[in-house]
Order: sequence, then C-alpha cells, then structure tokens
Amino acid sequence: MRVLVVEDDPDLNRQLVTALSDVGYAVDSADDGEEGHFLGDTEPYDAVILDLGLPKMDGISILEQWRRNDRNMPVLILTARDRWSEKVAGIDAGADDYLAKPFHMEELLARVRALLRRSAGHAKNEIECGPLRLDTKMARLTVDGVPVKLTSHEYRLLSYLMHHAGRVVSRTELVEHLYEQDFDRDSNTIEVFIGRLRKKIPSDMIKTVRGLGYCLSADEDAG
Ligand code: CA
Repeated sequence: MRVLVVEDDPDLNRQLVTALSDVGYAVDSADDGEEGHFLGDTEPYDAVILDLGLPKMDGISILEQWRRNDRNMPVLILTARDRWSEKVAGIDAGADDYLAKPFHMEELLARVRALLRRSAGHAKNEIECGPLRLDTKMARLTVDGVPVKLTSHEYRLLSYLMHHAGRVVSRTELVEHLYEQDFDRDSNTIEVFIGRLRKKIPSDMIKTVRGLGYCLSADEDAG
C-alpha cells in the first residue's frame, strides 16, 4: 500500500513518514501544496494524509482539484484544533476522514487502516483468503493458524494482493503501489518477491495470469 503525506511542518511530516513506513507502507511526502497536489494528481496512492494549511496551495483547493480530476483515493485531512468550519469544508471538498491536531499517531494509523480497508471493501482489521489470515493492525500473517514471518516487502506485496483478492493485478500496478517514488522500480523484483511468497503460502494461491499479472485466490481451480 502506498501512502502520500502532505504536511508543511517538518517535524510532523517526518513523524508521519516514519510511523507509516514502520508499519509497512511505501510513503512519499511533500511539504508544500503545489508538490502535494502534483504527486496526488500523477501517482497512484492508496491513501493520502493531507494537511489543510499549506504554503503555495491550500489543502481544500488541492482536494477539490483532485476530485474534479476523478482522483478518488481515500483522503484523511489534518485540521487545526477546534476549527469545525475547516472540517465541514474538507468533507464537502471530498475528504473521507479527518483528524484535528494534535493527534495520537496510533489514532492516525488506525484511521488509515480503516480507509484502506473500506476502499477495498473490507470491514474488519483481519483479511482472510482461504487459509490465509492477515492482521493488518499487527502486520502478521497466519496460514492455517500458524504464524508465518514475512519481510517488509513480502508483507506489502501480500497485503496488496489480499486487499484485492480475486482480481488480476498487473506487475505495473504492484510496482506503483508497493514502492516509494524514488525507489529504483525494477519490475523484475516483483517476480522475485512473488516467488518467495509462494514458498511461504500454499504455492498455487498466487496465479500468474500470462501477459496480465497475478491473481491471489483461495479457489483451487486453476481456471
Ligand atoms: Ca500546516
């Protein structure tokens, strides 16, 4: 899952990037409105954390333009404390959730998880697919109830596939959603990680769909 942070306070920006990276997201960040707007307009993010008070372009205008351009990723806005009118304006502009500053990082992480789940159509923290059970809160996988250790890249990959189980996901889509903007994006590495995952879960669960990509499914039928 790839997340964008748009926040001009350098300390808060850094804290957000660190906290989100630590729990396994690929994180890009911008510290002014123009750059944030550009990134959200051109890169595919699974969720965005958007401060409203920003230099060069304010958060409400950014959000309105994204929505006008059909950029529909979930957006959580950060508002100043006690400014109820900001929250209303933000939600009207297309925000999916908000947090007033100052906030606890744990609450922000919980809200981001909820946004990602809901946008993928899941209501709970735990996502299941056949024998796989992924606890997105603890970033833990069990296969038939047995804990399986994953590296952070393996976790990101499996988490994305499980959020989109049953759908064919192209290699390009995976590269775009698993890595930060500046990462050396060699799509061959995806194949390597798929190979490693297949050794950790029932190997026939991730199907290669020739020319299209991969599909995670609990279905035994090779289709
Ligand atoms: Ca600000």
